[in-house]
Amino acid sequence: MKPIPFFFFNTKTGKKEAFLPKDSNSVTIYSCGPTVYNFAHIGNIRSFLFVDILRRSLLLGGYKLNQSMNITDIDDKIINASIKQNISVEEFTKPWTEAFFKDLETLQIQRLEHYPKATESIDDMVSLVEILQSNGLAYEREGNVYFSIQKFQRYGELSKIDVSGMKSGVRYDADEYEKDDVRDFVLWKNQKTKEEKCWHTRIGMGRPGWHLECSAMIRKIYGTGVDIHTGGIDLLFPHHENEFAQSVGAYPEEQFVGTWLHCEHLLVDGEKMSKSKGNFYTLRDILEKGFEPKVIRFHLISAHYRSKLNFSLAKLEESKVALDRIQNTIYRLLETGSLWNQIPEESLIKNFSLKEIETLNSDFLNAIADDLNIPKALATLFEFVRLVNLTLDQSKDEISNEFYEESLVFFCKLNSLFAVFSFEKTKETLDGISEEWILKQISNRKIAKQNKDFATADNIRKELELKGILLADTKEGNTTWKKAL
Ligand code: AMP
Ligand code: ZN
Repeated sequence: MKPIPFFFFNTKTGKKEAFLPKDSNSVTIYSCGPTVYNFAHIGNIRSFLFVDILRRSLLLGGYKLNQSMNITDIDDKIINASIKQNISVEEFTKPWTEAFFKDLETLQIQRLEHYPKATESIDDMVSLVEILQSNGLAYEREGNVYFSIQKFQRYGELSKIDVSGMKSGVRYDADEYEKDDVRDFVLWKNQKTKEEKCWHTRIGMGRPGWHLECSAMIRKIYGTGVDIHTGGIDLLFPHHENEFAQSVGAYPEEQFVGTWLHCEHLLVDGEKMSKSKGNFYTLRDILEKGFEPKVIRFHLISAHYRSKLNFSLAKLEESKVALDRIQNTIYRLLETGSLWNQIPEESLIKNFSLKEIETLNSDFLNAIADDLNIPKALATLFEFVRLVNLTLDQSKDEISNEFYEESLVFFCKLNSLFAVFSFEKTKETLDGISEEWILKQISNRKIAKQNKDFATADNIRKELELKGILLADTKEGNTTWKKAL
């Protein structure tokens, strides 16, 4: 199948444009990944989910992918924390790296082809520094090597930052960069104390600056630039501008990145969620509040990646209700047909013979190909849910085989992007719960209420809701139950 045409808003040009990868069938993508010194917060996770949506959309569009995300396992924070705990950098970062992968798994984020670590790419970084030195763009001071941004004519081209006020020779040598502060940035840092992790290399004893790793890894993995480079919008300056300077400075005759995509922030009360502000939730925090991973995923992907998303538990609850509604439609549909086992992969790319479903299918593909317009894709999904419910209502649940099969295939296709629906047989999901068990829960809830233990009563109601059972309290003080529609 020939891939479908995509359009992306490219930060480099400031425009939405046709996406033209170097190889028309296969796409190379590099994404800035986590710094592994703590649990990721759900703002970080929003940026990883964005990478997943990009991946799943391009796969649905018929592309092959070769994708990577770096693991920053060396920086000031990591070194300081490992010295404080008196353990090696590797010992310190190992559990946090594992926690990162666990979060990806919990949220159904697909594994990429490569996860390069900074500490495993030191040689590549040293070679890059040497090339920059020989191109006259890097200089050494007291064992540190800096990139001279005045010598690189194109500095500021990506982020459109104004460098005219920059004083010559003012240097930045920490990993924590101020936004808008334009200075020569450090490529290689001299070892300052003997506890500090360092490597003995051709350019001296020391360690790489933060920006260097991404340029070096892209070179190491792809041998040249990439079609797409992604990261959170906070990385545009200085991190991506510096990556651009390093890579283009070293290989001026090559294209470094075709399309730059930047994901907007997750906010809390209008402010960026961040570790330093302390206004963050980790995935664990939210799971402990009783939300399922699929609800968190559904919520965090629901906004367009270029829109800010203001996080609140109330909004998360709304996503849960919306997701339940869709899931119940799928169960209802499943109940009308024969047993549904596994939908064959190839059926996901089939054309639908039912006109209404084929129209929704092309609306869905057009939405994701249009700069990953998930809100529009969601609108198509909700329209489809309405169509299925209406058809089931009108036919008193006796629908044609064709409608049954094509609807399920389309739900599966939607799920190859959203990854939040379940297609297990209804018997195991709803009918697996006996009426006896439901009545026992209702009785426990009544006792809890009599004891004024409203938290327990509420939890019982929520647990039943999660299983698709809705309770209603009558005026007479009884409780009835029904399957959620
Ligand atoms: P870090 O682990 O701090 O290096 O960040 C990993 C990724 O998370 C980067 O792409 C950041 O741009 C992104 N990021 C950090 N904070 C947020 C936020 N509040 N919302 C969305 N993305 C974020
Ligand atoms: Zn990077």
